[in-house]
Amino acid sequence: MELLQLRDLSKYFSTGKHVVKAVDGVTLTVESGKTLGLVGESGCGKSTTGRLMLGINKPTSGEIRFKGRNIHSLSKVDKKRYHHSVQMVFQDPYSSLDPRMTVENIIAEGMDVQGTVSGQERRDRVLDLVQRVGLRKDQLTRFPHEFSGGQRQRIGIARALAVNPELIIADEPISALDVSIQAQVMTLLQSLQADFGLSYVFISHDLAMVEYISDVVAVMYLGKIVEYGSRQEIYDHPQHPYTRTLMSAVPVIGKKADRIRLTGDVPSPTNLPKGCRFHTRCPFAEERCSREQPELKGNPGHLVACHLVN
Ligand code: SF4
Repeated sequence: MELLQLRDLSKYFSTGKHVVKAVDGVTLTVESGKTLGLVGESGCGKSTTGRLMLGINKPTSGEIRFKGRNIHSLSKVDKKRYHHSVQMVFQDPYSSLDPRMTVENIIAEGMDVQGTVSGQERRDRVLDLVQRVGLRKDQLTRFPHEFSGGQRQRIGIARALAVNPELIIADEPISALDVSIQAQVMTLLQSLQADFGLSYVFISHDLAMVEYISDVVAVMYLGKIVEYGSRQEIYDHPQHPYTRTLMSAVPVIGKKADRIRLTGDVPSPTNLPKGCRFHTRCPFAEERCSREQPELKGNPGHLVACHLVN
């Protein structure tokens, strides 16, 4: 079932004389109970896309539909429900938790705002959540500074779960953690997905982690989706030169690296190249690439925006 759909979604920011097209005509679907991986270099628009999905920022154009309804046309009550149904897990577990609050109050914050649970029921729910994310009940009275980065991320995940969300947007949730802790948090996210039937949007620059957790993958470059399809299709048969470049930069044990080198610098988002936005760096660029913008096309299981791919 389609849970969340982005339809031709754009977000432009004005910076004095310039316009930054942070997200430019993005169409994506998040299926219920599945994970969409959104991957690309920093500044490609993936975090802005995540924030638009949260419904806090309004898009410049296009639509976001949750269970078929445009989230920006919802009544006040339904909008509130939406904001509980879609939660965020942030990149930085150090700054995303209020240092003056105990773990118990941090986890219960969303429930307290909802005002539907109190007293023993509130305490029982917090207890259940803290244990589900792998912390101990005696840690509920402690403060964020008493925890490691991985533990703080677990607290952030418990806080997101407390309001019974259907979709969690995880924006680089492991990139601030030690490598040894990253796998533990990924395993936790997977087991919570199975237990609660959650859907995820997993935003990351880390291709290996996106492959590990995603069912469907979208590759972004300068505000646009350049390749979109099932995990298997994208990882086994990457077709867009940018995706292939990203993949070739990931070391695979036992395989000789067949590295594609990029030429040129990343263009300024305030002065985007005409035609294909990747043409200034693409090793396969042809003359028409600097004139014509390629459409995202292909079969429904695998779409590619490149003139050289049919
Ligand atoms: Fe490279 Fe041209 Fe394809 Fe763009 S359209 S990715 S420049 S070959």
